[in-house]
Order: sequence, then C-alpha cells, then structure tokens
Amino acid sequence: MTYIPFDNSFAALPEGFYARIDPTPVAAPSLLAVNRGLAKTLQIALPDDEAEIAQIFSGNTVPNGAAPLAQLYAGHQFGHFNPQLGDGRAILLGETIGSDGLRRDIQLKGSGPTPFSRNGDGRAWLGPVLREYVVSEAMHALGVPTTRALAAVRTGQDIAREAMLPGAVLTRVAASHIRVGTFQIFAARRDAKALRQLYDYTVQRHYPDVKDPAELLQKVINRQAALVAQWLSLGFIHGVMNTDNCTVSGETIDYGPCAFMDVYDPQTVFSSIDRNGRYAYAAQADIIVWNMAQLATALIPLMPDPDAAVTQFTEKVHAMPALIRAEYEHRFAAKIGIANPRPADKDLVTALLTLMHVNGADFTNTFRALSDGNARDQFSNPAAFDGWSTDWQQRLKEEPGATELMRNSNPAVIPRNHRIEQMIAAAVAGDDAPFHRLNAVLSRPYESDPKAEDLRRPPTPAEVVAATYCG
Ligand code: AMP
Ligand code: MG
Ligand code: MG
Repeated sequence: MTYIPFDNSFAALPEGFYARIDPTPVAAPSLLAVNRGLAKTLQIALPDDEAEIAQIFSGNTVPNGAAPLAQLYAGHQFGHFNPQLGDGRAILLGETIGSDGLRRDIQLKGSGPTPFSRNGDGRAWLGPVLREYVVSEAMHALGVPTTRALAAVRTGQDIAREAMLPGAVLTRVAASHIRVGTFQIFAARRDAKALRQLYDYTVQRHYPDVKDPAELLQKVINRQAALVAQWLSLGFIHGVMNTDNCTVSGETIDYGPCAFMDVYDPQTVFSSIDRNGRYAYAAQADIIVWNMAQLATALIPLMPDPDAAVTQFTEKVHAMPALIRAEYEHRFAAKIGIANPRPADKDLVTALLTLMHVNGADFTNTFRALSDGNARDQFSNPAAFDGWSTDWQQRLKEEPGATELMRNSNPAVIPRNHRIEQMIAAAVAGDDAPFHRLNAVLSRPYESDPKAEDLRRPPTPAEVVAATYCG
C-alpha cells in the first residue's frame, strides 16, 4: 500500500469552505510518471508496484487518512467577476508535513466532477497534464516558487475536447490552494465570519508573524511582486492570471496556457482565449497589481475602520509597481552580470532589450550567450550588438563575479513551447520518452548539456506553436 502521512487542516474548516467529494474512478489507470524525489520530501512511502501507485494517483483508491474535498472560491476571469468558481475538476486529498517541516496540499487534477464543475466534465486530457508536469517542475528547478507535480496517470478513458483525446490525472502539490479568489468569495457574500476564519487559517498556515490584515496584504504583495519579476526575468508568460489563479502563498499556480517566449517581444501572447492580450508578457506586472487590488478589496471588511483601511490599502497597492520594478531591475542586472546595480544600469538593460526586440533575438539564448561570448550571433544585425557590448564590457570591469552570476541567472535550457507540443504529440501516440527526457534535462536548467543542444534551439518557422489552450 502507498502510505501517505496525512495531516489535514483545511478539512477541519467549516463545511462552507468546500464540498466533500470522492474522485470518480477511471477505467484503466496506468502510471506515466511519479516524482520520487518529491514523494520522499512529502514522506510518502511508494510501493514498488506501479499499478498500485496508479490506483492512488488516478483517484481509484482513496488512501487511508485522506479527506477528499473540492474547494470553493470565486474570481475575476479576464477582469469579470464570477461569484462562484471552485474546484471543478480538482479534488484535494489532504495535506502532509514534509521532511522539511512544510505543510503541503496533495491534490488530484482531472479526477472527475464536483459540485463546482458547472458545465465541465471534471476531467483533463493528457496534453495539459504533461505540460503542467514539465513546466511546473522546470520552474522549480529554475528556482521559481511554484506548485509541483507528484504524479501523472493515464486514465485509459478518452474525453471529448476538440477531438476525443486521452484522459489523464495530475497530482499537484502546493503550499496551499488558497487563492485571491478564496477571499473574494466570502467578501462578495458579505460573510464576515467565514472571511475571518479564512484569514486566521491563512495567517497561521503561511504568515504566522502577521498581526493584522494590512500586514497580510503587504506580505502577499511582496511575494507576488518578487514572483512576477522572476517570471519576467525568465520570459515566462502565465497566460491566465485570473484572481482564482493567484495564490496567497506566492507560488505560481495553474499551468494551463502558459509558455516561455522564444524571440523577445514584450507583447507576446500564447493563450488562444486571451484575444486582447490582457495577460501578455509585459502586461503581467500591471495585472498582478490589479489582482492585489482585488485582494485588498476583499480584506477591507476585516479591518476595524474600513474607511481608513481603504486609504491604507490603496497606498500599498499603489506602491507595488515600484516593488516590482526594483525586483525586475535586480534580476535583469544579474542577467548581464551586475550584482549590485546602480541607477544607470537599468538603461543598459533597456538598451539591450530594445536591440533584442528590433533584431528578433531569442530571449533565453541571448542572455545565456552573454557569458559564452557569442551573443552577437543572436542578432539579425550583429553589428548592432557591438556598440552596446562596448559599454557593457566597460561596466563589467567593476563586476569580478560577472560570469558566474550570469550563468546562475540565465538558464541554458527552458521548456520551449514547440518541444512541449512535440512531447505531447509523442505521448498521445504512446511514446513517453520525450516527456521523460524533457524532465531530466530541465531538472538542471543552468547547466549546458552538450547532449541536449536540440532542446536549446528555438523553433524553426515550421515548428513555431503560436497558440496554447487551457485543456
Ligand atoms: P482555470 O481557467 O483553469 O483556472 O479554470 C477556471 C475554472 O473552471 C475553475 O473553477 C476550474 O475548476 C473550472 N474548470 C476548468 N476545466 C474544467 C473541466 N474540464 N471540468 C470542470 N471544471 C473545469
Ligand atoms: Mg484555475
Ligand atoms: Mg487551468
């Protein structure tokens, strides 16, 4: 038997926070991947028999100690408030305390309908499950706070999407699944008691030093500012930054239509449903501020003097862009080898990015090439790079650790969108080797592996995948 040392706290909250629901069994579960390193951290004892592991992580067997439930939340979707969302295809099995002392949720995604499924089928197909597995684990290896992937299981059942597609279940691990939208639902309902219970729970779980809602707001703002700046520094585009996909823990969550950009273009959008570019690469810094304004609004009823809180919270939200800018400038300075940036260094960064944009340079490979000495090859007009490089070299005379800093700030390899699509196509055809290879290579993204040069190459025009889907 798979042994999971559950220690459930969310299930002890009042019934109004969730609906108790078991996963719906699937026809023929088969294990595609299990993350043994993460299982160990979670203190889960996995059996040798893969069929047994698949029974658990498909939802067919509910392990001892689990308290399965679907969480309730609301959220702004593309700016429009939806008063009730909730886990429509995800079921929280429970929590464990890891060997590192941290409490984490273990959640099945694609495990069947819940009372919050609305018109959905409660399922996921193989493509988005493998995209989330690869990208969330890559983000973790890149050093980004993120939910993780513990397992992926084929269900043996096809589900209806654009076509009939193979179903799968992802086991997601998170510091928690409390979202901005979790606060929003109780604030919108004017349920002061539930809002207070959620606040107390969140503080105890994530921010034990916090003394009042104003401080909680500030901590979440700080973490989200750092997070989004880190996304920008890696060319990551989340794709669906709705407030229900925005955690209070500061972890990246919901890898639906996400992608990394190839050529540097601040207006890049992948998500097929993001027609107006609300969640474009460069819009993310503004959107996270907007999302924090929604959190602020939801927290105001918790304050003894709501009118005074409006003024205080507005100031916090208005101060957020400067926090993001500071994080951004620090991260991008490091990408060009500068450990202690001065005010003028941001012009150096901006000048490089402008040249990259004009010259169609690949974001990841250009930054990585700075420490390899061949960055000019990335520019359609290589001479354009030389002028910038002269100024940069001058500045680097005062940065003795530049090369190492750049190597630790600029990944050699990222999960490129066309490789993900190729990996998914292979898995649909029954070949899981590209999936396992991507995972292996992406577990060490800052190392140049000569055997993985193909995974570093940008897409050829024929390989470009312009659109991603929520799945
Ligand atoms: P997302 O845009 O992925 O964050 O999903 C938005 C909402 O739709 C969430 O409440 C999901 O649980 C729900 N949802 C997405 N896909 C499905 C599905 N196939 N079945 C039921 N609910 C779904
Ligand atoms: Mg979501
Ligand atoms: Mg999603």
